[in-house]
Amino acid sequence: MKKFALFLIAIHLFYGCSKRQTDQKPYVVMLSMDGFRWDYTDKTYTPNFDKIAKMGVKAEYLKPSFPTKTFPNHYTIATGLYPDHHGIVLNSFYDPETERYYSISDREAVEDGSFYGGEPFWVTAEKQGVISGSFFWVGSEAEIDGARPTYWKKYDNSITYGQRIDSVIAWLSKPEEVRPHLILWYFDEPDHSGHEFGPDSEEIIPIIARLDSLLGVFLDKLEKLPISDQINFIVTSDHGMASVSDDRRVIFDELINMEWIEEIQGYNPNFNMKAKEGYVDSLFAQLSGIEHIKVWEAGTLPERLHYGMNPRTLDLVVMADSSWSVVISEDKSVGNGAHGYDNANPDMRTIFYGFGPVFKKNFISSHFDNVDIYPLICNILQLEPAINDGNFENVKNLLLTED
Ligand code: AMP
Ligand code: ZN
Ligand code: ZN
Repeated sequence: MKKFALFLIAIHLFYGCSKRQTDQKPYVVMLSMDGFRWDYTDKTYTPNFDKIAKMGVKAEYLKPSFPTKTFPNHYTIATGLYPDHHGIVLNSFYDPETERYYSISDREAVEDGSFYGGEPFWVTAEKQGVISGSFFWVGSEAEIDGARPTYWKKYDNSITYGQRIDSVIAWLSKPEEVRPHLILWYFDEPDHSGHEFGPDSEEIIPIIARLDSLLGVFLDKLEKLPISDQINFIVTSDHGMASVSDDRRVIFDELINMEWIEEIQGYNPNFNMKAKEGYVDSLFAQLSGIEHIKVWEAGTLPERLHYGMNPRTLDLVVMADSSWSVVISEDKSVGNGAHGYDNANPDMRTIFYGFGPVFKKNFISSHFDNVDIYPLICNILQLEPAINDGNFENVKNLLLTED
């Protein structure tokens, strides 16, 4: 009997200690709401965003990387590398080295790990023994560097936001030994409505309110978890949104010799082009003469854009000026909202909110770059970061312990 009591005490001590040890391992849960412009929360009552800012931190804004498109920026957040360095240089591109095409609408390409450079944080985590889960984060459908998140899903827009919330909560409710400590998830709004109605339209307001209330639903469920006070939750996004109109379009086939172009990749307001043999200078000269767009030869872009050195950016990089659009032909409408512009354009700014045990409370930080999120998350999860373009020094003031 005495022996049995000792055995029970030993068991208790063993599990007590090991539980304490494992429980101390931090959690990061990060949600991206695509195309959430930095000032959208000023457009309506957003009690749940406000609550997060009060319980934690909010950046004045998050600065995206150029080009301010969805795939380049989500994968920049994941790797801490600029698009030129991780290789997802646009939502669609041609790789002259392998003579292959990548596009977000091509399932085979999206799931092909050989397109993706750098080390996304779920790979950093898995390689260092931290379980990760991704519900639609860009890149997580591919095996990269021999690894995948332990839990991941094939992109399927028809899965409701409510189902995504429940899945994330279910992951966090798994037994400790199989529970992910890094969770990434994704909503395709307000990007979709921003394109359709415009970021300054009346129609965007209920979308912002709905996203705020979904955040509230998630926070309520999070609070009920036994590990709720251990979770660091971040809400961020890939880029903002600018108002555009078909009245302010540059139409390529009316202005340049399209037959000089061998490859043209991208869509409003960004294009990368490869000229036919012997035509680079002529094409560049023609494009340089067009008002409301900028054109650079590869390798000559301003350093602050960190773009144009990767062979996938081709010979010429074209970008429309703020609020202007560029399309190949007259029949292409640009809708009411667009992004992809210079990352210094204020309309491209986006959001960063976070709360949890590592974050300061009720703290508004100045802006930082989205390449800094990778070193921040590695620091929180105590992971050795891979080589990246971010700088932890820029974000350490968000944390209670700044080391
Ligand atoms: P864009 O606004 O053109 O930069 O692209 C945004 C679109 O990317 C959204 O409407 C999403 O539907 C789409 N998207 C996001 N993640 C994925 C994914 N993993 N696979 C395919 N499409 C995606
Ligand atoms: Zn986007
Ligand atoms: Zn978009």
